[in-house]
This record gives sequence, structure tokens and C-alpha cells, in this order.
Amino acid sequence: MTEATNVKIHPVSHDLPKAEMHTHISLALSPSDFRDRVEQGRTDLGFGFIQERNARYYPDLFHFHSTYERMRNLTRNGEELAHVTQTYLETIADQGAIYAEVSNSFREGADFDAQMEAVAEGIKHAQERTGIEARIVVTTLRDRGYEFAELAAKTLAKKSFNKVAAFGLVGDELCDSLADYKQALDIAFHEAGLGLAPHVAEQDVRNAIDFLDIVPKDIVEATEDDHRRLRVGHGSLIHVSSELLQAYAERKICLEVCLSANNRIGLPHDTRELEIGQKVANQNGASVTADNKLQDYFNSLADHPLPIFEERGIPVVLGSDNPLLLNTNIAKEYSLAVAKAGYAGDPLEFTKTAVEYANVDWETRESLRRQIAKYEMLRH
Ligand SMILES: [Zn+2]
Repeated sequence: MTEATNVKIHPVSHDLPKAEMHTHISLALSPSDFRDRVEQGRTDLGFGFIQERNARYYPDLFHFHSTYERMRNLTRNGEELAHVTQTYLETIADQGAIYAEVSNSFREGADFDAQMEAVAEGIKHAQERTGIEARIVVTTLRDRGYEFAELAAKTLAKKSFNKVAAFGLVGDELCDSLADYKQALDIAFHEAGLGLAPHVAEQDVRNAIDFLDIVPKDIVEATEDDHRRLRVGHGSLIHVSSELLQAYAERKICLEVCLSANNRIGLPHDTRELEIGQKVANQNGASVTADNKLQDYFNSLADHPLPIFEERGIPVVLGSDNPLLLNTNIAKEYSLAVAKAGYAGDPLEFTKTAVEYANVDWETRESLRRQIAKYEMLRH
């Protein structure tokens, strides 16, 4: 049984400016909206799910996705998507969030255009009411294959969508090789002009090796005045190899750490069985040696590699991933970092890093920097 992440923790103040850098928006429903959907018979989960989720533990990503699938119908049309986007952003704005990047899945056809408009509308309304800035990451599911990801990237190259700023990959990390997605990332970066934020090495170390091979060189070397940034969703497993830690630190690849997700979703058998000294190789024969022990963060957040990333100088931002399924939000993630995951620094650093790694134009970044500077001036 995992350590519950709902234990009372000393909260990071709501005054502290925060950034939510990893959340899948379509299911970021509030508990009251979830209850309404249950009453409408839109999921077989039942309202009890809300109470049980404090102790809920997903043995692996497959079980987590099964629950996710049972929620598919919770957000069905543009109106509901706009509502959930607006409501979630307003909720986290109340908790101090000044910036968010939310992800939404690509799909073929006119429905996708309508969805993108809906998310952008939710962002606009939340911004009008609270001042929060937000951008969209369009993701594709790896279970659908690399050709589908290329189609998504090409679609985004052909047509620009309001607030869409980055491209990502989600889903099963074991079903294929991340190396197959080189073309999709190239199109997204070079042709669609987007930042990159794929999920990498949440479940499988080989992904972290593959990613170093395929990431466009130009984004690693991009100058400060390019609005596009390189981040990876999770990246938690790179801690098992000093070589990977060094490679990510050198390239300044930012990790989107999602503490509740890491704590509540278990790892596949092969990853759990990793031993010190074991060589991990990808399909192309590139390999690293696992020379650090696998941290036991799915049993205890005190064993999360967050302090290792901090010590190695790897940029880190925080995300709630799936707020409804994991019973979390961005304020809670900041508090967990400080009170449970051994983060010894100033939590404002997560926000500062987020602003530097946000996929925004120069003016917006400057405005976010000013908000942080103002807070710092007042707190001293
Ligand atoms: Zn995610």
C-alpha cells in the first residue's frame, strides 16, 4: 500500500506565485462537476470514487489508464471542455497560480478544431476573471503509433490554433520505441513552430535514452529569445543513471515532476526489478548503466528523486497531472515537494523555472517575471 499523499501537510502559502506545468485538462473536473456527471450516468465509477481516491493506488500505468478510460465520457462536448478548463484554472489561480500549460489530445477531424477553440475559450475566461496566463500542449497517445503523432504535428503545422504552444506525447511507454517519434517531434518543432513536452521515462528508462537521440538539436541550443522550450513530462526514472542525470543537466532539459502521480502509479515489473550495475539498452544499442538505486517513491514520497534533480542542477517544474484521479491540485503539489519529497529550496524556484520554461512570447515572460519580482519584494 502506498503512503497516502493526503496526510496533513504544512501548506505552501496561497500567496506564493505558482505554475501548473503538467495537467491533462479534459478530466480536471471539480468534485461537484464529477458528482453531476455521475448523477447523469456518464461513468460507472460512482460518486464513491471521490472518497476512495485518497487511498487509491494504481499498481501500474495500465490500471491507471483503465480508470481513465472509464471517465472518458465525463467531458464530452466543447461547452463542457471550456467549462472544465475555466473552472480548473480559476481554482488554481485562487491557490496562487499565475501560469499553466494544460494538455489536450489530438483527434482527427473538425471535432479537434472545436475542442481547441473550447480550451482556448476556457483559458480566456479564466484569464479575464483571475489574470492567470495559460497555454495548450497538444498531445498524441503513443498507443496510436508514430504515424498518428506525425499526422497531429502536420495538422498543427498547417493550421495555427489560439493558445497552442507545445506538442507532447502521452500513453504507454512500453508499446513501442520513443525513437520512432523523431519525425513527429521534428515536424512539431520545425514546421509547426511549437515547444516540446513529451512524457519521457515515467515508466521505462529506455525512453530517456531514446529521447536524447531524437530531440531536435536546435531546441536544445535555442537562444533565450526563442519562445519555444524543451521539457519532458516526468523523467523521474533518469535518476537511476548518473550518465542520464548528467546528459539531462547538460542539455538543461526541464523535468515536469508530478509527485502525486509518481506516488500513486506503480512501475512495470522490469523497471521495478532494475538492479545496480545493470545495463539498459535501447533498440539501437545505445545504453546506460543503472548505477543508482531505484528510489522507492511509489511507496514513500520521502524517497522521491526530486532532491537528486535539484542537486544535479536539472531544472524542475511541478504539475498535478490528473487532479481528479489523483486527488491533487497545484497548491498540494508545491506543499508535497516541501513537506514530503525532501525539497530543501525555496518553492518559488519552481515558479521561476516554470516561467523560464514556459512556451510564451517575450512580453508574457516579462510580465510573469515581474509578478514574481513583486512578490519577492513584498515578502522581504
Ligand atoms: Zn501526464
